[in-house]
Amino acid sequence: MKTKYLAALLATTIAVPANADVLVDNVSGITMDEEGKVKRFEALVIDDDGRIAQLIERGEDRPRTEYREDGEGRVMLPGMIDAHAHVMGVGFGALTLDLSDTNSLDEALEKIRTFAAENEARPWILGRGWNQEKWGLGRFPTAAELDSAVADRPVYLERVDGHAGWANTLAMQAAGITAASKAPSGGKIELLADKKTPSGVFIDLAMDLVNKAVPAPRAVERDLALAEAQKVFHRYGITSVADMGTTIEDWQSFRRAGDAGSLNLRIMSYAFGPEQMVLIGGPGPSQWLYDDKLRLNGVKLYLDGALGSRGAWLKRPYADDPGNYGLPLQTPAQLRNNLVRAAQGGFQPAVHAIGTAANAELLNAIDEIAESFDGDRRWRVEHAQIVDPADLPKLADNGIIASMQPLHQTSDRLMAEARLGMDRLDGAYAWNTILDLGGTLAFGSDAPVEPADAFAGYAVAITRMDANGEPFGGWLPSERVNREQALAGFTSKAAYAGFAEGRFGRLLPGERADFILVDNDPLLATPEEIRATKVFETWVNGRKVYEAD
Ligand SMILES: [Zn+2]
Repeated sequence: MKTKYLAALLATTIAVPANADVLVDNVSGITMDEEGKVKRFEALVIDDDGRIAQLIERGEDRPRTEYREDGEGRVMLPGMIDAHAHVMGVGFGALTLDLSDTNSLDEALEKIRTFAAENEARPWILGRGWNQEKWGLGRFPTAAELDSAVADRPVYLERVDGHAGWANTLAMQAAGITAASKAPSGGKIELLADKKTPSGVFIDLAMDLVNKAVPAPRAVERDLALAEAQKVFHRYGITSVADMGTTIEDWQSFRRAGDAGSLNLRIMSYAFGPEQMVLIGGPGPSQWLYDDKLRLNGVKLYLDGALGSRGAWLKRPYADDPGNYGLPLQTPAQLRNNLVRAAQGGFQPAVHAIGTAANAELLNAIDEIAESFDGDRRWRVEHAQIVDPADLPKLADNGIIASMQPLHQTSDRLMAEARLGMDRLDGAYAWNTILDLGGTLAFGSDAPVEPADAFAGYAVAITRMDANGEPFGGWLPSERVNREQALAGFTSKAAYAGFAEGRFGRLLPGERADFILVDNDPLLATPEEIRATKVFETWVNGRKVYEAD
């Protein structure tokens, strides 16, 4: 009798953890475990705090819980983590007019007209994505053409590559643009056939002439953008993001959402430069706020530009622009000052470095400074796109994180070949080499530059092929990573890169119950299937935040 009672008590104690609340049963669960290996399971238990209380493997008994969710045999993965994105950029992108799917000027004008009619309260109509090449126009569009769609409000639309802007007459008036206006150096004002009158298109730095007239978004618009961004990430199965370049206004929006209980995306924040770092963080990084949903981790710095505009800083000149090395955006002294200032406050630096010279300079600077700052610093190199093979081993030193974006590889492939030449691509997007050398890879999207599509990124990571299967066999295919490495790059390693390990990124007891239910097992499915993965449900902190129609 006594033995029986004890046995029953013991069984209850083991089977039903304290606070056990929701059992999510009947899933094909996958996570990285403590050893960095893949672990499979069939159910998990979520406690009252939104943490995982228990993982149930095949053949193990289910505890009794208040609620039970049937996973219907679907694949459960940890919520994807985007290690490099721009949260508010994604949100504003979702709120403004997108012309990237238009195939003619007429089609674009119709879309602009409709959008303006549907958004009567907006004082300016803003948007992006137009491409006169795709339209087959053979010239830039004009302000008069834009006036024919919207003449009652200013309209300003960025070209697909972000390197030109198209204004209507009211936008030019608001910006004070006249035939006497001069373009700043590094910019150009397009003119009509009379060679005097501004046509409405502004190139590169001349875009600032119009941009400075565009009213800054109000707090309520920022909050709306954040809400939109959360929807976009959740749809892609992303539950956490490293926000690369948080301003004080962005941070206040994150805080308002956190205070209101509507922050359902974990944001690891990197302030937009040293000034914003101090404005937001004061003497050091913030605490983890709102059940691990927000923390100011560190600071985003820029050491060079991008390959497309030949702003990436190279050791040798551009193959398609002799004499041009690109440009460093900080002097050696500035870079070191900024890194030291961050490190002194315990802020984690995340430095944009694309070209060979930028990466070499950054890796050398970190090597010099790391001696003075012991402890676990996790210096982040953002992009690390084109690294001199001689410098690649340094990416595995000093606890450096290589934060890289698989989708950039497919988007940039042909451009990288043109900019560098075929014989200078050995250290290009060198994921596998970095891992082989002992480095740490965190994967992201750089959204809104690329879609925040983690499964497309995953497919590229394991194939080096684009959505059309090009190039066949993969581009520099030895730099593919394996499926487990890709999963880790988008989950556990991306969490580690933001000092979030043990909090989220894996489906293990004690970590936050952030998970997704999808239709494919990315460790088994074909790359095409992985790319087309359907996200049925997204859960954050033990709560469903998205469900597909
Ligand atoms: Zn970025």
